[in-house]
Amino acid sequence: GIRLDEEIVLVRQILKAADIEFIFSQGKTVTNISLFLENILSMCIKEAITNVVKHSQANVVQLTIKQSSKDLTIIVQDDGIGIWQKQSESSGHGLVGMRERLDFVNGSLKIIGDGGTKLIMKVPLVQV
Ligand code: ATP
Ligand code: MG
Repeated sequence: GIRLDEEIVLVRQILKAADIEFIFSQGKTVTNISLFLENILSMCIKEAITNVVKHSQANVVQLTIKQSSKDLTIIVQDDGIGIWQKQSESSGHGLVGMRERLDFVNGSLKIIGDGGTKLIMKVPLVQV
């Protein structure tokens, strides 16, 4: 498995190679989340970024990670062609897999397709 921090390093490299500008905004650093949850979120971020590189024709992608006491939200927004111009979830396994993984941890995936593509992943943080 891979930690979120490590995934961000990889994302930076992938986007640099693809010549897509990367904007990363993180509030306070993520704390108190399980390694298991970090692994799942890392896989989701990887798939989202891979999709941006493969499909979006974007110039810029913004990754936002926000943690509150109740949940963690990850937003991946690109300025590309937008997702609804194509078949979206019928054509591949990536988005379906992302939704299944997020469901598994009681999270959710929202896809917004106007003016580029925006994925909003939200997972609840269980209080110990
Ligand atoms: P796989 O992920 O299985 O390798 P895939 O990337 O084609 O294949 P999904 O990740 O499920 O499949 O994405 C489904 C489709 O949605 C893509 O084929 C593409 O047409 C569209 N899509 C996904 N992300 C974006 C994006 N950021 N911008 C534009 N289109 C997108
Ligand atoms: Mg994909």
